[in-house]
Amino acid sequence: MTYIGRFAPSPSGPLHLGSLIAAVASYLDAKANKGRWLVRMENLDPPREMPGADQLILEQLQAFDLVWDGDVLFQSERISDYQNQLDMWLKEKKAYACRCPRKQIRAAGGVYNGHCRYLNLPAEDSAVRFLNSSPLTQFEDLIHNTVINTSARTSEDFIIRRRDGLFAYQLAVVLDDIYQNITHIVRGQDLIDTTVWQNSLYAALNVKPPQYAHIPLILGNDGRKLSKQTGAPALDTKKSSQLLVEVIARLGQQPPKELLLESNTRILNWAIDNWQLSQVPKN
Ligand SMILES: [Zn+2]
Repeated sequence: MTYIGRFAPSPSGPLHLGSLIAAVASYLDAKANKGRWLVRMENLDPPREMPGADQLILEQLQAFDLVWDGDVLFQSERISDYQNQLDMWLKEKKAYACRCPRKQIRAAGGVYNGHCRYLNLPAEDSAVRFLNSSPLTQFEDLIHNTVINTSARTSEDFIIRRRDGLFAYQLAVVLDDIYQNITHIVRGQDLIDTTVWQNSLYAALNVKPPQYAHIPLILGNDGRKLSKQTGAPALDTKKSSQLLVEVIARLGQQPPKELLLESNTRILNWAIDNWQLSQVPKN
């Protein structure tokens, strides 16, 4: 089987240490398996995007000598595919329109109770939910082994298109990964809880899900996930080799100190040759 991996940032700002680690981990695992490494720009949510961040991210990847294969795919090019799948599922009653206010769901404990399942509301000006008729509660992960998720949300009819018309991450990520023939997904642990939802969509589409590996998140001093929203510091690409060695060490690999004096390409080549996914820490 050919390995096809990917890095899929959202252009809400430039890469920070937390997103760099996901880029490097997905790159190393793909290259250590003689695979291809694709880059996909998840620009689904214009209100949360920063103009020019997509180009900035690509320049940063280049500054770290993380060379992707093929063309960069932008989710904004994929809207008609998402729409077609949504229409099909609405027609087949595998998805339905919902107009429950978010406030009401929050007041009921934060888990949607399927209120609109059989109301046949028009899809216009509504959120669209996937009818999660046979919810999944576990999946296999290359780092975490069997991940069991028994929270009430796993059986929720989750949103696949928001009421404001924007497509939800769950739908787009699955359709894109199928479209790009992705075999392995190496990404941050913040997405581990919703993986079962994505696998429900794979089941509905009759497609075998990819292999998953969820890598630990880098937390800020306040214990929250590093992100643009929590004010993660920008990456200093002038110190790219130091940062690369740091990230490789955070991934549980043991780069020798001498690597700090080497070029990015030589650092990455060392990491590809010595890559051991089993050494990546679980937390
Ligand atoms: Zn509803």
